Amino acid sequence: MQIKNGGTTQLAPITATNDEIREALTSAHLAPLMLTIAHLSGDMSILRGDIRPESAFLGPPDAGISDEQGRTIRERAFDVISAWRDNPGDLHELSDDELEEMISFLIQREELAEIYTPFLRAEFSSTGEDPFAQPAIEAVPEATRANYHVLVIGAGMSGLLAGIRLKEAGIPFTIVEKNPGVGGTWFENTYPGCRVDSANHVYSYSFKPKDWPQHFSPQAVLREYFEECADEFDLYGSIRFETEVTEARFDGASRKWQITVSHGGQSETIVADAMISAVGQLNRPKLPDIDGAGTFDGPQFHSAEWDHSVDLTGKRVGVIGSGASAFQFVPIISEQAADVTVFQRTAPWVVPSPDYFKDVPAGKHWLLNHVPTYAKWFRFSMFWRSAEGLMEGVAVDEGWNKPEVSVGQQNDVLREMLVGNLKAHFEDHPDLLEKCTPNYPPGAKRALVDDGKWLTTLKKDNVHLLTDPIANVNAGGIATQDGTQHDFDVIVYATGFRASTFLFPIDIYGANGEELHEHWGVDPRAYKGITTPGYPNLFFCYGPNTNIVVNGSIVFFSECEIRYILGCLALAMEHGAALDVKQEVHNRYNEWIDDGTTKVAWGQSSVSTWYKNVNGRITQNWPFTQVEFWKMTREPDAADFDFV
Ligand code: NAP
Repeated sequence: MQIKNGGTTQLAPITATNDEIREALTSAHLAPLMLTIAHLSGDMSILRGDIRPESAFLGPPDAGISDEQGRTIRERAFDVISAWRDNPGDLHELSDDELEEMISFLIQREELAEIYTPFLRAEFSSTGEDPFAQPAIEAVPEATRANYHVLVIGAGMSGLLAGIRLKEAGIPFTIVEKNPGVGGTWFENTYPGCRVDSANHVYSYSFKPKDWPQHFSPQAVLREYFEECADEFDLYGSIRFETEVTEARFDGASRKWQITVSHGGQSETIVADAMISAVGQLNRPKLPDIDGAGTFDGPQFHSAEWDHSVDLTGKRVGVIGSGASAFQFVPIISEQAADVTVFQRTAPWVVPSPDYFKDVPAGKHWLLNHVPTYAKWFRFSMFWRSAEGLMEGVAVDEGWNKPEVSVGQQNDVLREMLVGNLKAHFEDHPDLLEKCTPNYPPGAKRALVDDGKWLTTLKKDNVHLLTDPIANVNAGGIATQDGTQHDFDVIVYATGFRASTFLFPIDIYGANGEELHEHWGVDPRAYKGITTPGYPNLFFCYGPNTNIVVNGSIVFFSECEIRYILGCLALAMEHGAALDVKQEVHNRYNEWIDDGTTKVAWGQSSVSTWYKNVNGRITQNWPFTQVEFWKMTREPDAADFDFV
């Protein structure tokens, strides 16, 4: 099996009429369209004129371009696309200088263009090469690869990816999945309104683009995408469903992992040369430590374990938590329930996103599916606008002295923009404006994406946002510390996940017999988020310090991690040994992470988040750009490891 770069090789030929092309162009994002014009024609002049899109974070995608300029761009695009239709040729091979010019045109940061050039060169590989392939594994003799065995824990987004890449590399593997189906988080979270909050053209595998019906897909569409992947890459035969890993021990004599799995009450041991954890950070629901939790008389459940047998029609529902999950289901259940009361401890920042519930328009579908390079430039522009570009908005400026409000000048600009959005929504509701305005800098915790639905919902007569702290849960409902009793028929805990107890509840014993969670204590650490000293040939996807706070795609991280892990497997096979990262390499790396964390909003603010351990150290998040992670994980350096 050979995976191809999905961006430029799977396009349908252009058969559209002139009118159809013109119509489709009305749906184009203009900055990526200008880059497509330059790329297809090999003529960079359109980038050198006076049309300059703004690269500011947030804001409309065509900011900085006037209507008149928009018409000029579309007319030029029409000429280039119709010429391509009539005479499809070879794609113009971009020189490094051209690529750099195009990148700096899009992001308007000349100094950063150099960093993105090798990244985009790989993404655009005109030979159809795969940007996330790991060449080192192909250099290992086929027979050696075929004699290896890898156990992957989890068949969610990362576990399936591990399977796809291991299959491509000819390495036998078993995926163990506790659920009866694939998709992980997209299998388990079925609460009303569940959908992805990263744009799908970025939140998808690089090699498996999809003609997404909406910009941000609902859960069922995502689950279907991962099922399609499992099917297309023939993974089902390698997945053991409804099977849980309960324990794993590294056996130094054989240099293999002995993994205990349980299925239907029966245990068995699987032996593997390497183990990849793909269980995610947000997999085990967390119930809050609130007095009386469990004493409530009516139905109660966690948002990630939604009880669909409970009919909420006409019911009084109490919701604890106002994070990403509550944000999505409260507007939906408020249409059904008599009353919904949300107990909010910390106000989330709300980022306006007008496309959040919208279908991808027909013209945009056409452009993405037919016009060479448009999909790639569109993906990169989304990557920049929704992730990389936002990093500047959360950066700490030295000497900035408004810690409760913002951490730097750009962060302050972002705050003003977000507060402006709240003010516009709550003009006639000063009480809600006060409750919904966070008292910490934007980016100190994950902002929530909204097209106005949440803020509008809070204004409904049957929705109540309470900020009085909870005193206890009791038989009748929830009492707040101001002495008020709130009676409910149903309570929903939207209280998040046990993120920092990575791999909980699996017991993992390393080379010296120490259990991983005991070894870590409250401070999980790993080198590049992927390997921990003392646990040879154990690799993590979405491990310590690899979560992203400002938007971005965790799929991108997984693709980087799996490429790195395959490089590690190649090293292990070459040396006939297991890889154990050197303690000093690991420690130096973590110092670098901690230093980076002091320079971003979530590393500065004292607001409560699931990113921090009890000592205040950020154990979950990646503090740099995504492209930095890409660069760092291209291949492992043998000098970083002991071979045991
Ligand atoms: P969350 O964002 O961690 O929110 C948990 C909520 O429960 C917060 O409002 C928290 O308050 C509150 N809470 C926790 N313990 C409490 C207590 N003892 N008393 C009162 N309130 C308490 O959890 P989530 O909404 O499930 O989301 C978790 C993560 O999953 C997100 O950050 C995101 O990364 C991901 N997610 C993504 C999507 C998506 O892509 N669309 C959707 C859902 C979730 P504090 O803020 O004060 O801690």
